[in-house]
Amino acid sequence: SRDYLFKVLVIGNGHVGKTSLVHRYVNDKFSKHYKITVGVDFALKVLAWSDTETVRLQLWDIAGQERFTSMTRIYYKEASGCIIMFDVTDSSSFRSVRSWKEDLDSKAMLPGGAPLPCILLANKCDLVPWQIPMETIEQFSKANGFIGWMETSVKENKNIDESLNFLVQKMLML
Ligand code: GDP
Repeated sequence: SRDYLFKVLVIGNGHVGKTSLVHRYVNDKFSKHYKITVGVDFALKVLAWSDTETVRLQLWDIAGQERFTSMTRIYYKEASGCIIMFDVTDSSSFRSVRSWKEDLDSKAMLPGGAPLPCILLANKCDLVPWQIPMETIEQFSKANGFIGWMETSVKENKNIDESLNFLVQKMLML
């Protein structure tokens, strides 16, 4: 049997749902109380991937304001994959995705020097109206080196397991 440990970064502007995602995925809970993430936090999820494979995911959530502090190096160190999240009702959170991705690619890479597999999550898809058309997200995801994108709702538990499984598949192929 084989055991894998992957460190996964969860990145994006404040209030897009990063803390809620980690909480939902790891504890299967959704809490609607607004919480400001202080510093770096990580949570562990253990997946029985197959009869012979166990996958341990370390999910690292970072607060936007920590971006340029001394914590950054620790945060990006030895990461295997990344989730960049925005809020479909907040166009500025989508506009920030490009700089989050550039930041990621400049600070973290795989041992061979390739960029980390990174999935783009269009969160709060339960809310209307969306501020960003699907075609725009699709084109942006392709043009900026994402492994793909998915609409998610942490609130309604939509596409959370699916998106994490997709990322795990890509990390296992490395
Ligand atoms: P963070 O700053 O990126 O960690 O964002 P939080 O996880 O603190 O979430 C910010 C707010 O958005 C909270 O009030 C959450 O309850 C809410 N939220 C998170 N995900 C969703 C979602 O999928 N749908 C809706 N409607 N609200 C969400």
